[in-house]
Formats: sequence, C-alpha cells, structure tokens
Amino acid sequence: MSVLVVVEPDEGGDGLSVVSQETLTFARQLPGDGVSAVLVDAVGEPDDSVLTHCREHGVDALYVTDDERLQRYAALAWARVVGAAAEASGAAYLIAGGTARGNEILAHAAAVLEAPMATNVVSIAQPEPLEVERQVAGGAVLERVALTGEPAIASVAGHALAPEPAQAPGQARVERVTAELADADRAAQVVRLEEREGGDTSALTGANVVVGAGRGVGGAEQFADVEALAARLGGAVGVSRVVTSLGWRPHHEQVGQTGSRIAPDLYLACGISGAIQHWAGCSSSKTIIAVNTDAEAPMVTKARYAVIGDMHEVIPAVLEELG
Ligand SMILES: Cc1cc2nc3c(=O)[nH]c(=O)nc-3n(C[C@H](O)[C@H](O)[C@H](O)COP(=O)(O)OP(=O)(O)OC[C@H]3O[C@@H](n4cnc5c(N)ncnc54)[C@H](O)[C@@H]3O)c2cc1C
Repeated sequence: MSVLVVVEPDEGGDGLSVVSQETLTFARQLPGDGVSAVLVDAVGEPDDSVLTHCREHGVDALYVTDDERLQRYAALAWARVVGAAAEASGAAYLIAGGTARGNEILAHAAAVLEAPMATNVVSIAQPEPLEVERQVAGGAVLERVALTGEPAIASVAGHALAPEPAQAPGQARVERVTAELADADRAAQVVRLEEREGGDTSALTGANVVVGAGRGVGGAEQFADVEALAARLGGAVGVSRVVTSLGWRPHHEQVGQTGSRIAPDLYLACGISGAIQHWAGCSSSKTIIAVNTDAEAPMVTKARYAVIGDMHEVIPAVLEELG
C-alpha cells in the first residue's frame, strides 16, 4: 500500500514547485509503506534538482515517461500515464496539488481508474477508512468526505500546510512508465504557450509580507503609501477584486477565490471589507492585521489585530514609525 503524488517542476527550474512540495508533505501523513511520485511535465531524464527535492521529500520511486507525444499538456493523455504509474506502484492513494492542472489531471485519472476523488482537501480527518476534510464555498464551509475505493484520489488545497522535508530521505529511483495512448486521448492538447506581460503572480504568492488594499484606498492614484509600505517591509501589494474590476490595479495582484491564494507571515489588509471570496485567498496568512474605518467589517472581526481608522492616516504613521 503506497501513496503516489503527481508532481510538477518549479517554473524557474529549481526542483519541484512549492505546491508539489506541499503535496508531498501532505502525502507523508497518509498511512502506507512509502511515497512515490510521477512527473509527466518533463519527458525523458528528470533534472538533478527535481531528484534532489524528491529525495528530500522521501520519494522512493519517481515515475517518468519517454513518450514524446506527451511533451505538450493533454489532460486525458497525462491522466493515462498517471493511471499507469498508480498501477505500477500499487498506489492506494493518488494525490496532486489543487492547481487547475492538478485538479484536471486527477479528474481524468479518476475516470480512467474508476476511483473516488475529492478536491481542495485540507486535512485527513481519519486515515482508515479514509475520510478527508475539504474546503467548499471559497473556504467558508469545511466538508468531511469518505473516499471508498482504491486508489483514493485527492487534490490538496494550496497553502493547506507548509512544505517540510521528510525525516528520512527517499531513494528517488527513476522508473519508466508507459501508457497506451489513442489519438482521442490528445483530442484537447495545448499547442502554444504565451507569457502574458505582468501576468506573473509569484511575487505575490511567494511574499512573506503582503500589504493588501481594497476599495477603501479610494482610487488608482492613491496607492503610493501602500506601495511604499510593501517596499519598506520587503513585501508585495495584494488587492481585492473591486480594485482590479475598477482598473486601479492589474489582475495578477488580486487575492481571493478568483485571484491568488496567499499564505504570508503577515497580511496587512487595508480598506478591505473581507468578503468571503477575498477571505478564501488570504485565510492561510499566519497573522492578519486589518486597517478599516468600520469596526464591524468582517476583515476586522476575523483578523488577529485591527486598527480602526483611515488607512490614509494609519499607513503614513506606520511608515514614519518605521523610519
Ligand atoms: C464569484 C465571485 C468571485 C469573487 N472573487 C473575488 C476575489 O477573488 N477577490 C476579492 O477580493 N473579491 C472577490 N469577489 C468580490 C467580493 O465579493 C467583494 O465584492 C470584494 O472583495 C470587496 O472588495 P473590497 O473589500 O475592496 O470593497 P468593499 O466591500 O467595498 O469594502 C471596502 C472596505 O473599505 C473600508 N474603508 C473605506 N474607506 C476606508 C479608509 N479610508 N480607510 C480604511 N478603510 C476604509 C470600508 O469600511 C470597507 O470595509 C468575488 C465575488 C464573486 C461573486
């Protein structure tokens, strides 16, 4: 009985993505006699940095494919490889990060393997028989789901837990896996990738400090103090959807259900009401400080600390104090 994790490489070429490292950390909490991983992104020999991360995270076997037809993402074809790796490793559990792609691959794999699946899982409520807790309604509701059947398939919500190396390193033995592919398995396949200018959300999602700004900021030209505070704290600016919808800031800065999920050490939420869709993206922050004129605003009642006041007075005062 083992656990198989679908991993993806870091976009900057530095081993595995943070999401994959979180997912491996989650996978090690499941019962069984070892963790394996499958990497479909990199056809052929895996990178040394990928193998190093696999070892650090206790991965005993890494399944890879040599099939050139899989160079470009095709959900069903990739799912067939994942399914073949699940069978080769005897996986009782099949896990991936809850990214759009992770969820899509797992959904197809669940169909291929005729196995049960839950998305957005945040914790294991009971290992055997398996019951997991998953976030629904943008994190407002925790649902407990029993997964009956093998392999039990689950995607892990982003930032549900911090990535931690395994106590004992794995061997990261490279194993080849092949899957029978029909043309129809690649009926939907990526043909071109185009990087969007300013579309990179990594500065926001990787920041230890995020200074958030909502409608309370007052206008596109009122962000100077917010930017100055983010720069002074070595952090990033994050905004609510109202701010992006009004065109005050670009979409890649949006936090929330339809923006980025963040998990900084400190989230300073200024002039943000804390609607459930925004909370879905910031609730994993370690400490939240709200700055709001309304003492009843949901962000104020949920935050660990709150300053009741005008952000255009509070932020300059903080900047002055920081010197
Ligand atoms: C399907 C769907 C998806 C959505 N996805 C997202 C999402 O990803 N992210 C997101 O953010 N929203 C999302 N929303 C929108 C969400 O419901 C809220 O409308 C939005 O988050 C509100 O933004 P806000 O807090 O900036 O504005 P408001 O709700 O208008 O709140 C402004 C806050 O600023 C305070 N304020 C005003 N002036 C000052 C001042 N001078 N100083 C300090 N405080 C002040 C007010 O008291 C108030 O609390 C989504 C909605 C839907 C329906």
